[in-house]
Amino acid sequence: MVLLQWTEEALQEIEKVPFFVRKMAKRAVESEVAKAGRTEITVEDVRAAREKYIKFAEGDRESGKKSTKIAVVRCETVSEVCPGVACFKAFNQRKLAFKEYGPNTEMIGFFTCGGCSGRRVSRLVEKLVKHGLDVVHLSSCMLLEDEYPRCPHRDEIKQTIEKKGIKVVEGTHH
Ligand code: SF4
Repeated sequence: MVLLQWTEEALQEIEKVPFFVRKMAKRAVESEVAKAGRTEITVEDVRAAREKYIKFAEGDRESGKKSTKIAVVRCETVSEVCPGVACFKAFNQRKLAFKEYGPNTEMIGFFTCGGCSGRRVSRLVEKLVKHGLDVVHLSSCMLLEDEYPRCPHRDEIKQTIEKKGIKVVEGTHH
């Protein structure tokens, strides 16, 4: 495996990327540099990858113009006792997992997984893609360890969504 070196400037530049896509941005930068057969990651590499892969999520925040479309998938079991208030509150107030989104961000879907093992997710995400979906959040209830059992299918659900070219963010209001 080739070891990649980040320059100080490149590290500073990647810190400007919103937290919810930063990990993805880092992977994208490293993959591009490795593909080019280089070992040093420069600030230009970060800017190029940012432009190519994550501008969709940043444009809204920076310009206040471009709309970012998001959806939340949540646990079918937990939905029996939770109407989703905390998820909507966090989104409406742009707090916690939604704090990086700008005013033009729209929540275009809020749905349950359909029960173990998440049979509904693929079909519903496909429908939302036709409406311009950019990002799906896995609800906090799927990720907790204490109040509810952590979803044992979260990784498969995440991969199902990512395979459709949609970014996944883990969490909503925790
Ligand atoms: S697949 Fe996960 S999110 Fe869906 S009902 Fe089962 S535990 Fe809940």
